[in-house]
Parts: sequence; C-alpha cells; structure tokens
Amino acid sequence: MSLLIVGSVAFDKIETPFGKTDRILGGAGTFIGLASSLLNVENGIVSVVGGDFPQSYLDLLKDNGTDISGIEVIKDGKTFFWEGKYHLDMNSRDTLATEVNVLENWTPNVPDHWKSPDVLMLGNLHPLVQSSVFDQIERPKLVILDTMNFWMDTAWDDVLNTIKKVDVLTINDEEARQLSKEFSLRKAAKVILEMGPKYLIIKKGEHGALLFHKDEVFFAPALPLEEVFDPTGAGDTFAGGYAAYLAKTQDYSFENMKRAIIYGSAMASFTVEKFGTERLAELTRDEIADRVKTFKSLTHFEMKA
Ligand code: AMP
Repeated sequence: MSLLIVGSVAFDKIETPFGKTDRILGGAGTFIGLASSLLNVENGIVSVVGGDFPQSYLDLLKDNGTDISGIEVIKDGKTFFWEGKYHLDMNSRDTLATEVNVLENWTPNVPDHWKSPDVLMLGNLHPLVQSSVFDQIERPKLVILDTMNFWMDTAWDDVLNTIKKVDVLTINDEEARQLSKEFSLRKAAKVILEMGPKYLIIKKGEHGALLFHKDEVFFAPALPLEEVFDPTGAGDTFAGGYAAYLAKTQDYSFENMKRAIIYGSAMASFTVEKFGTERLAELTRDEIADRVKTFKSLTHFEMKA
C-alpha cells in the first residue's frame, strides 16, 4: 500500500475571528501527507520549497512518516506563500495573497522508488503540472485529483484535459457548478462524470460531502463541532484521509469509498480545531478511532420499513 502525493508545501498566514498566525507550515501536500501518515500508509510527497523553508518543518513531515525525498529544495528560491482571512461564518474566506515563488515553472520530478505507487493523489496545482506526473509513473490503481476555481478561470482547457485521465475528482460545490454550468448538484455530477472521472466527490465544508458514481450517490455529514478554529487545509486533509484509507485497504469499490469518505471527514474534523497543521501534528491513533466511532453513531439509525 503506497500513496504518492503531489502537492504544495507552503507557508500560510491565516486570520480567523479567533486569532492570526505568522507564517506557519501549510500547503495541500503537507495536509495530505500528515493525514496519510496518521492512517499508517506509506506515503511520499513530490513538491518544491525554497531555501527559506525551515528544516524543522521538513523534519515534522519526516518524523510523522512521510518520505520527503521528493521535496526539492531550491536554495536561492522562496517557498510558495498563501495568506487568507476567514469571514465570521468561517465558511468563506478571502485570499489576501498568493506568492507562487518556487512553484512557478516547476515540474514535478518523481523519485525512482515512487514510480509505481498504488494510489496517486494530485493536490491542487496547475493542471499541466498535475498531468506531467502521468508520464513519469506506471498507471496507479487509483488516481485522485483535486482542483479549484482559480484553474477553471485561468486554464479551462487544461483542466478538462487533465480530469479526463483521473478516476476520482474532488471539488467543492461552487466549483462543481462552475465546471458543469449546472446549479443542481445532481445534474452537475452527471455532467462532470461525462467529462471523464468515474467518481466525483463534492465537498460542502461544514455541510459534509457527496460521492457520485454512475447513478449512485452517498452523503457523509461533517461532524458538528462545538468550535471551529481554522478551516485551512480541511479539504486537503479530507482528501488525504480518503486516499490513504483506499490505499490501505486496497479496495477501490463504491462501498469502500463510503468508508473512505467517513475517514476523510473524521480526519478533517481534527484539522479545523487548531491553526494549520497543529492539531494533526499532535493527533493520536486512538483519537482517530474514537472519532470514526462518533461519526458512525451520528448517522446510524434503525427503522423497520
Ligand atoms: P484548503 O483549505 O483545503 O482549500 O487548502 C488550503 C491550502 O492550500 C493552504 O495550506 C495553501 O497553502 C494551499 N494553497 C492555496 N492556494 C494554492 C494554490 N494556488 N496552489 C497550491 N496550493 C495552494
């Protein structure tokens, strides 16, 4: 069971109604890697950082179990930087700054020992950067891709060409509407599944996630938490938990994807409890098992038909 992750490793600066941070560890690849390690799945990140990236952040990923040999360090370059500010409802945010830095003109370089992963998780990056990975590796058993409205606005054709080649597409509800030009998520899913992906996951933040495949649909709620401190990385942690569960169980059926989504939701529910990666970095496997149980009881009920 192995999971190859291609995604940003970054500095984030975050402001929520509860406080602000300086530059802290962030990036889609980071959250996906941490979530995978917590589920005991062999994982490696392919990414790039600058000479300004602290060794302690790389050590944190490594010590938790991620293979960081695919993270290039460009000594005289600056690390990708993202700054965001959340609104009072914590469901929406403004991006205040995106400094692409070393991610600009970067082409992923998959290390030799990662040329045949079971599962490939392509984090949110330019679609051409994402698709450049296909030529470097054997076709994995499952390819999952996350993207965002920014790429639909700026690289529409490349998004369409890239999603054609993947098994699972994960996007949020707004992005699903933009991609399909349909308002109803059911109709949107139908249109998007005709674009190539066999499975579609529509993330709805605190309203959970939907999984579509052919005519089937599954819904998982998000855990109603007493406190949501910082939602940054929740979507990536969800994708990481989902991908890692599938890589671990080696069962890529719709039925098992339902369980994978519950794992993804459980992992994401931790991320939002503290700033950035703080909560994932201190998380124990017992806490994960307890939360998955909580999820089960949240939605389980008996009824005589
Ligand atoms: P999420 O909250 O799950 O949407 O993901 C937030 C993470 O995505 C942050 O840690 C950012 O560093 C990272 N991120 C934001 N914009 C981009 C981008 N254009 N390319 C790559 N990573 C990004």
